[in-house]
Order: sequence, then C-alpha cells, then structure tokens
Amino acid sequence: MPPIYRGKCSNCGYESPPTGNGLQGIILDQPIQTPHAHPENNRIVFLGHPLETSIMKDLGYTYSSAIREGRLLIIEHLFCTSCGNIYESRRLHGYVGRAKSLTLLFLPIAVGVFVGYVESSFVLGLVIWGLLAPLITWLLRRVRFVSPDARAKKLHPSWEQEFGVNRQCPHCGSCDSSFPGSVGRRLLPCPKCEQKKMKVECIGRS
Ligand SMILES: [Zn+2]
Ligand SMILES: [Zn+2]
Repeated sequence: MPPIYRGKCSNCGYESPPTGNGLQGIILDQPIQTPHAHPENNRIVFLGHPLETSIMKDLGYTYSSAIREGRLLIIEHLFCTSCGNIYESRRLHGYVGRAKSLTLLFLPIAVGVFVGYVESSFVLGLVIWGLLAPLITWLLRRVRFVSPDARAKKLHPSWEQEFGVNRQCPHCGSCDSSFPGSVGRRLLPCPKCEQKKMKVECIGRS
C-alpha cells in the first residue's frame, strides 16, 4: 500500500493535490481506452499498485518482457523544492541483460573465492566478497533504474524523448526536487503565497 502525501501551507492554508511517490507504467504501440491509461497520453498505461501484474497480463506482458522490450516507464511524482509545485518526471526503465547481471552478481563471489584461495584465508575471501557485493548491487540498481541503457534506446530511438519528461520543474526550471516521502520535516515554498511554510504530510495509503 503506497503512502499518499499532501502539502499544506500554514500561512495561507493552501493544500497541494494528494500525491504518491510515483509508480510505473508500460508503453504500448497503440493508444488504448482503459481507466488505467495516462490522462495526457493513452499509449502509457499506469501500473497501479497492487494490480501491476494483472494489468500487464491483460495487455499481454510480464515484468520481464516489458523490461526486455524497453517498455517499462518509471513515473516519479516530485515536489519542486524551489517553488513547491508537484510535477511528474518520467524516464525509460533501463535494462541489463541476464548474462551481464549474472556475471556482475557472481563476480564478487569469484573474486572472494580466488583471493581466499591464493591467500589461504577464508576470512579475507569473505571480506573481499562483503566489500564487492554491495558495490555491485548498487551499480546494478543504478544502471537499471537511472539510465535507460543503449539497448532500450536502440529498440525505440524516439521513446526517451516522446515519453520521458521533466528532468526539471516545468514551473520554475529548478532541478532541485524531492519525493513526497523524502521531504520529511523540511518546509517547502508554498506555490500560492510563496512563503516557505508548506509542510508535507502522509494522509493515508492508496
Ligand atoms: Zn519549481
Ligand atoms: Zn501559502
């Protein structure tokens, strides 16, 4: 159950629209009429929680096939920390091939075993593995979630431009943003009275 947040200004009483941290979507070749379609572009279908898998199945996809075909879209809802407006940022989900993922995952184990064997030290091998494993996991995450890889771009050269939007705030152009759930105790500028008095609170779960 993803949490829902709302910003409220203690100066003028302004309330932001309720928002979550974001969700994922799938890009289709043809527009579709469904209640899950994106209001601005009906080639994007929202994969709302907890129906992600069944929505995808109805469309003839699975998570793996959608990622493999470069169709998965990461949709983030962000508070601009410079002006307080909420905006949607979208980008293609990256893809790391299975062979590459497995190599990266087994690499720390192989290096650990090798060092442990050469140095005849089980502990040293374990330490090497312990140091490398989180690094590799972090790297994999970054590749998967942050950069749409060359393959996804090659499959659909125009998609990143067509479906990816707003790396910065469309209202004020600032690149400083925060997920609603990460604002915490910080006070944000109110989009209405511009005073830095807007607090973001969790108002429930969807
Ligand atoms: Zn802004
Ligand atoms: Zn205000």
